[in-house]
Amino acid sequence: MRRTKSKIQVQVDCAYCGSKTETFVSSYPDYLNFCRIHTPGKEPEKDCMTDYYKEKKNVQKKEKVKSLFSQKEISF
Ligand SMILES: [Zn+2]
Repeated sequence: MRRTKSKIQVQVDCAYCGSKTETFVSSYPDYLNFCRIHTPGKEPEKDCMTDYYKEKKNVQKKEKVKSLFSQKEISF
């Protein structure tokens, strides 16, 4: 007997853009799934994990700046 559907397709929700995807990467140690469309030898078409952590870093930077400002306000 031949099984036409031998490959189990797993779909996950992307933690960054929220879309369902079958081509994904899991991050460690956060265990989050992100879509990733990447043809070897080319620039990644979609790399939500990189975008997610880039954005996260930016947010942390912004928060630091904010706390610096509030410290200045207190000293005034
Ligand atoms: Zn995504």
